Amino acid sequence: MQINSPAFKENARIALHDVNLQKALGNLKAGFPTKRAAAVARMPEFEQLRDEGTALKNHILENLDIYLEQFEENVVKNGGHVHWCRTSKDACKTILDICKEVDAKTVTKGKSMVSEEINLNDYLEKNGVEPIETDLGEYILQLRGDHPSHIIAPAIHLNLEDVSDIFHEKHHRPKSSDPAVLMQEAREMLRQKFASADVGITGANFFVAETGSTIIVTNEGNGDLTQTLPKTHIVVTSIEKVVPTLEDMTLFLRLLARSATGQEFTVYNTLSTGPRRAGDQDGPENFHVVLVDNGRSEMVGSEFQEMLRCIRCSACMNHCPVYGAVGGHSYGWVYPGPMGSVLTPKMIGIENAGLLPNASTFCGKCESVCPVRIPLPKLMRHWREDEFSRHLSPKAVRWGLGGWAFFAKRPALYRILSSSSNLFLRLAAGKKGRIKKLPLASGWTNWRDMPAPSGKTFMQQYKSGKKD
Ligand code: SF4
Repeated sequence: MQINSPAFKENARIALHDVNLQKALGNLKAGFPTKRAAAVARMPEFEQLRDEGTALKNHILENLDIYLEQFEENVVKNGGHVHWCRTSKDACKTILDICKEVDAKTVTKGKSMVSEEINLNDYLEKNGVEPIETDLGEYILQLRGDHPSHIIAPAIHLNLEDVSDIFHEKHHRPKSSDPAVLMQEAREMLRQKFASADVGITGANFFVAETGSTIIVTNEGNGDLTQTLPKTHIVVTSIEKVVPTLEDMTLFLRLLARSATGQEFTVYNTLSTGPRRAGDQDGPENFHVVLVDNGRSEMVGSEFQEMLRCIRCSACMNHCPVYGAVGGHSYGWVYPGPMGSVLTPKMIGIENAGLLPNASTFCGKCESVCPVRIPLPKLMRHWREDEFSRHLSPKAVRWGLGGWAFFAKRPALYRILSSSSNLFLRLAAGKKGRIKKLPLASGWTNWRDMPAPSGKTFMQQYKSGKKD
């Protein structure tokens, strides 16, 4: 996927005027947050589960090397192979080499954000292997030459008419506005692909050190067909998704389903433990796990370590007012919303993604719903500080912050400035009590009136003993 994060502002402006997108985002806001809230309300121990999940993830990250090596040992014992890949390029090359070994012409793919991260589809296509997405949302996007805008609902930016149009164009069948008809159509188109693919590639929501197993969760069952029908199964996943035991995995599955879609449990939870054994009725003959680092090991022990707790549930973006207004494509790369605003600068550089951590109101909603309590606003603030200290922020921001710092360090001056600004704003607002236009604040006043300050400054009230 091309990096388009430096164009965040322009992308957001276009998104705000895109009627279709706004309609689709309206559905998102009405859907996932309500379902999550209901699922949480049905589970009195949810907060305790979050604490346990957070502590367990911290423990895993402190012992990451041990669990990864244990996982590798068990995969090998089960007859599989583990490939360690430091960069996207290493991972793509490793996957292509495996495909070439079995002379693969087509691969079916289950949904995997890591494969988006390493740009796998483009790489395979350029090297003569056709990738076929089998998750319904991903399949629709592939037909459109489009990319995911959400980590669990990749085609959330589309409406039913968009799907009907692209199916009509590519499948040469009559248009339909019935989701069941469209789904059946996709099923028929994919059936043959499942049966004839040489290799199946899936991601892994988690992988288990004690058994050498990987697990995918889906609501469609497409991942099961992807991993069991072809002769070779390749799992591509990132290193932080390891969990020590099967029991630990179930803790995260409970948190994941409720936080993501408001389900008690995802419909299909499918474990893969090595290739087919003697007596097994189905399953691949070859089992490979490609472990992608891509900057994650550098995050261990750094101020961004907490981000590695992420279980990719998407609750933060489902509740984020910025994501809800501009959608995932505005973020310009694979991971959108608050989690993307922390992760993306690490992967593509703060010089390319500096606008993302700045596109936050710091309302804190993301942190309040994150099942593993990642302090997303704090981590975004780290990026802002980093951007500032490396002189990457725009001049206007630097001057503004410099000016503010000058006054903030001189309390007497600060008090004079704040009380005179208070007076100026009240005079500018006049009897209406609202300001229509304000120099240097057009980003606010172009869209809404600014309310005038209600009275005295905080310091004046504090001194006079008022707390309101
Ligand atoms: S940061 Fe938290 S809320 Fe966001 S996707 Fe990751 S686990 Fe879910």
